[in-house]
Amino acid sequence: MDGYARQIPLIGEEGQEKLMKSRVLVVGAGGLGSVVITYLVSAGIGKIGIVDGDVVEEHNLQRQFIHAGNVGKNKALSAMEFVERLNPDVEVEAYPFNLNESNIAIAKHYDVVVACPDNFETRLILNDFCVRNDIPMVHGAIYGFEGEVTTVVGSPCYRCLYSSFPKQEERFTPVFGFTCGVAGSIQCAETIKVLLGMEVLRGKLLRFDLRSMEFFTIEYERNPNCLACKNRKEG
Ligand SMILES: [Zn+2]
Repeated sequence: MDGYARQIPLIGEEGQEKLMKSRVLVVGAGGLGSVVITYLVSAGIGKIGIVDGDVVEEHNLQRQFIHAGNVGKNKALSAMEFVERLNPDVEVEAYPFNLNESNIAIAKHYDVVVACPDNFETRLILNDFCVRNDIPMVHGAIYGFEGEVTTVVGSPCYRCLYSSFPKQEERFTPVFGFTCGVAGSIQCAETIKVLLGMEVLRGKLLRFDLRSMEFFTIEYERNPNCLACKNRKEG
């Protein structure tokens, strides 16, 4: 507990114990994932699962600092190495593959899913699975100086928020490391708050623009035509 002396006054020993028993799955160990993994592991969660099928490339290191020295290595395995160095008390499981319909069942073993992938397809697969299985999902995305975060706890969900999606995100999204830092930190705060039963960005999309330094929240509701929410009993 000594290692967490500076945060225990905020959440109590009981809160810390809750964190130490919790399991979080981080999907994507890229720019957002690097930040989310760093702060979740520092805060002493019990177990972290890391999903990523990509390999570390030189141009990733500008924002994916947890992979320093690991160019050429799988990102999930590289992140696992980082976690073991940062906080050996945290159990870590690496899933060195890309998430799809056939392997998403791994998410059932976790209390919260943090969505940090680089494409819409994975976000939708995650959203639908989490809504169906009542697993809270913390969504984050960035573009250039801009970012957004929302937390899906049942309904409304990520699919309710966006009625259409482009086929494919750009191969190289322009971005600064600090944009990932802001969005990833907010995702981490949301995750910790979900685990502790605190109020989160449910039905609220937080958007920010670091060029104008504007932060604002947009409220959204359940879309009656949402494919993911349709079969849910409660709203
Ligand atoms: Zn929905």
